[in-house]
Amino acid sequence: MFMDYNRIFTQAIDRLHEEGRYRVFIDILRNKGAFPNARCFAGHNGPKPITVWCSNDYLAMGQHPKVVAAMEEALHDVGAGSGGTRNIGGNTHYHVDLEAELADLHCKDSALLFTSGYVSNEATLATLAKVLPGCVIFSDALNHASMIAGIRNSGCEKRVFRHNDLEHLEELLADVPADTPKLIAFESVYSMDGDVAPIDAICDLADKYNALTYCDEVHAVGMYGPRGGGITDRDGCAHRVTIIEGTLGKAFGVMGGYIAASKMVVDVIRSYAPGFIFTTSLSPVLVAGVLASVRHLKSSSVEREGQQAAAAFLKSSFAQAGLPVMPSTTHIVPLMVGDPVKAKRISDILLAEYGVYVQPINYPTVPRGTERLRFTPGPAHTHAMMIELTKALVEIWGRLEMRLAA
Ligand SMILES: *Cc1c(COP(=O)(O)O)cnc(C)c1O
Repeated sequence: MFMDYNRIFTQAIDRLHEEGRYRVFIDILRNKGAFPNARCFAGHNGPKPITVWCSNDYLAMGQHPKVVAAMEEALHDVGAGSGGTRNIGGNTHYHVDLEAELADLHCKDSALLFTSGYVSNEATLATLAKVLPGCVIFSDALNHASMIAGIRNSGCEKRVFRHNDLEHLEELLADVPADTPKLIAFESVYSMDGDVAPIDAICDLADKYNALTYCDEVHAVGMYGPRGGGITDRDGCAHRVTIIEGTLGKAFGVMGGYIAASKMVVDVIRSYAPGFIFTTSLSPVLVAGVLASVRHLKSSSVEREGQQAAAAFLKSSFAQAGLPVMPSTTHIVPLMVGDPVKAKRISDILLAEYGVYVQPINYPTVPRGTERLRFTPGPAHTHAMMIELTKALVEIWGRLEMRLAA
């Protein structure tokens, strides 16, 4: 029978259009040294100046002079790429130094670099659970897609506990035989709601039921704790978590991912994870940039404090204007819209008329019916920018006949 492949592909894309969640990428260039200012290439009259409100380069470290200088120096010193996997020619001294720096950041013996945070989650969870015979993974309902992929690829049994619900987690843990290997996988800062996991209490349960713990600190590293070691650094509980995972692409401003753990656990992942073994290691240029960024944020809290102050100001500005700001306890400022078409429409108006760039967040990144705009103000967003943004949103809310709180 004749198979019309193109018709099937077209239908798949049409479904997204019908639901209003077809993804359009905005074409931009950031202006080095002037973040959050950027240029947008949407129109036909040359690039248009915009302000970026949805970047995960939370602390503008991607443009920090120390980071840029370190990358320039590395490029001129050793060239562009690593030239191999870690095992075959690609284990540069930059990689070795950065792993030591990251292990120290999280007070662990060892750390292991991956090409992204996604790969670190997928490779580590899949491998760990394969090495532990009969392992059961307990996974928070709001865990990131990369953790879910790793858990699925491990082929082991998975029990999902309601988001941050300790009672439900304990119920599920108690239901599995004592001699079964167990792993609890969760995040510290949940990036779409901006809430934080009760890490100490999860570790108490892990102790009680003899489970390992895996904490994704992607949205916390660089930003919380006196040295930027994340929520586990802030709360003094890094030593209680078996594996801490982070990204080098968000607050650290460059690219890559990692885990930090005991020497034994890192040795197992290093030796067994295909996603670590069979891929070219990160460019030494990137690693040099990350090294400068991590070292800087270990000793400087100016960026963290600036970010927290900006987030507090924007939340209160939205709340005072009656905009539906969600109850985040972190630097993330989500505005609930609850409809994919409206979220996209607001985002389009902001960009076209106000030069404000904030991406609508749709299913499957968030559950259907909770579509939102997610703002990530940082140390470089000024009060004037935030007041202007609030006014723009109030105007658009009125125009689209959406309700503001009294
Ligand atoms: C972004 C993200 C990742 C993936 O990190 P990358 O370095 O961007 O691949 C992992 N976990 C969470 C919670 C994330 O938001």
